[in-house]
Amino acid sequence: MSGYAPIKHGGGRYLVGIDMRADQVYEKYKGLRVSGLISLLASIALAFLFARFLSAKFIAPIHLAIDRCTAIAAGKLDEQITLRTHDELDHLLKAFNDMSAALAHTEHKRREAFDALQRAKDELEIRVRQRTADLSEVNNRLSNEIAQRIIAQTALQEAATVDPLTRLYNRRAMMEHFDHEIGRNKRNQLPFSVLFIDLDHFKRINDAKGHEAGDCVLIEISIRMKNMLRSQDSIARWGGEEFVVLLPETTLAEGRIVAEKIRRAIADTPFYAHGVELFLTASFGVAEFRPGLDISQTINAADAAVYAAKMNGRNRVEIEGAVARGTHQA
Ligand code: GH3
Ligand code: MG
Ligand code: MG
Repeated sequence: MSGYAPIKHGGGRYLVGIDMRADQVYEKYKGLRVSGLISLLASIALAFLFARFLSAKFIAPIHLAIDRCTAIAAGKLDEQITLRTHDELDHLLKAFNDMSAALAHTEHKRREAFDALQRAKDELEIRVRQRTADLSEVNNRLSNEIAQRIIAQTALQEAATVDPLTRLYNRRAMMEHFDHEIGRNKRNQLPFSVLFIDLDHFKRINDAKGHEAGDCVLIEISIRMKNMLRSQDSIARWGGEEFVVLLPETTLAEGRIVAEKIRRAIADTPFYAHGVELFLTASFGVAEFRPGLDISQTINAADAAVYAAKMNGRNRVEIEGAVARGTHQA
């Protein structure tokens, strides 16, 4: 086989030719095909290796950065990326590391502030508890003192108004009740009466059974008389074995009925002093308050009626102005 080609810069005047046998040309063609195939395979292998290289160089740092972001999101702020690529990716990784360090620093400060706040809160709670305990102690002490004072005040008030033996009102307290009742009488013109009660021959009880037995009888008789009265009535131990009763909204006639009831309650039922049965009677004088008069005049009128009752035989009720028919016997 022959082939010709003009020589470059020959101006078309010169040709170069080659004469080869057909089998030689075919051999050359086969050789060229094999070498073409080999170069194609080599190119593919090179491209693959290059891709791997690129992947290792660019994708690995990006994966690292992603892992770092995930770690930051999970709270691990103090880890650093140590990989160096010596190209633009180094700036990105350094920016990640700086951001991570800044976040770690901020987190550290936040924790410090939180711990300080927690400590301050704990201290405050301890102080509040201590203060509350102190206040509660002071409160208890004050409550105790107030209770003691109330008890002392009540005892004082009772001592000032109550007879220690019979627990009935004393004279002083009874005078206050009278004052109150006189005030009511002035406003409403409501009547009220006074009973004067004197136990009969009480001296004999003391003489026969002893002073202590006499005291027991005085206590018992006080209870019995009080139980017979209404809640608005008042009774006082006026002296030794003498009692005065204030009956609000009660006329002389009604007062007499009340006195009679009490008289019977004393005379009909025996008393017991240290297990010993004792019969006792009392004499009663009744007077009604007259507006414009002094209360002591009413009390004296009732006392005078008691004297009449004594003179007229004891164990009886006399009203103010009653006449003493008999003679007083001790
Ligand atoms: P009369 O019927 O005339 O009233 O006779 P009486 O004995 O009750 O009266 P008198 O005034 O002679 O005596 C009163 C007695 O009351 C004398 C006294 O010993 C007694 N007495 C007064 N106070 C008490 C007391 O607190 N306890 C006791 N046990 N006796 C008292
Ligand atoms: Mg008397
Ligand atoms: Mg008497």
